[in-house]
Amino acid sequence: MNEQDKQDKHKARQQKLKEKVDARIAAAQDDKGLLLVITGNGKGKSTSGFGMITRSVGHGLTAAVCQFIKGTWDCGERNLLEKLGVPFYVMKTGFTWETQNKEADMAAAEKVWQEAKKLLADPSIQTILLDELTYMLSYRYLDIDEVLDAIANRPEGQHVIVTGRAAHRRLTEMADTVSEVQSQKHAFEAGIKVQKGIDW
Ligand code: ATP
Ligand code: MG
Repeated sequence: MNEQDKQDKHKARQQKLKEKVDARIAAAQDDKGLLLVITGNGKGKSTSGFGMITRSVGHGLTAAVCQFIKGTWDCGERNLLEKLGVPFYVMKTGFTWETQNKEADMAAAEKVWQEAKKLLADPSIQTILLDELTYMLSYRYLDIDEVLDAIANRPEGQHVIVTGRAAHRRLTEMADTVSEVQSQKHAFEAGIKVQKGIDW
């Protein structure tokens, strides 16, 4: 096959693919407030959630963030997004990786959850990030029925993004979009400490 034939064949194949993709895009007509779950052991879950909050704000949508892990360092996204009017509800005490006090952790989780519940009932909020919520369900710090009910009964059109490892099956079954981030390698394993702008 000469070069021209190869190019023509490639072009025809791409054209066919484009037609297929265009047809599927045209067929997807529904608008819906989405539940997205970003889970798995690889790096990129919270940053993905914050990416969607940033996109929302960039389009003039109202957004809010609830973080279910106590930050041990400050959060670059928070520094930026709070200035743009995005409210953050963060555990000031309680759950960290070195958690020792279950009672205090549960109380701290409950406090942030009460704020999350208000947001999930507020039609003026268009996109909500529930960062690291999965752990609150797997540790049973929050009642899963209550959490799933609040998400299921949220205002129509409201998007919710949940991040964290080991997402509960009932949550992923309910979600519209589920992504699992897999780790191939992480700099930490090579002895590199957390880097500003990349890890926090
Ligand atoms: P990010 O906030 O960077 O998107 P994440 O939300 O996917 O990360 P978490 O499980 O919340 O990951 O952990 C947050 C911190 O742990 C970050 O500093 C991140 O770089 C680090 N981390 C994430 N995945 C891994 C991994 N597989 N091995 C080691 N460290 C990790
Ligand atoms: Mg995270």
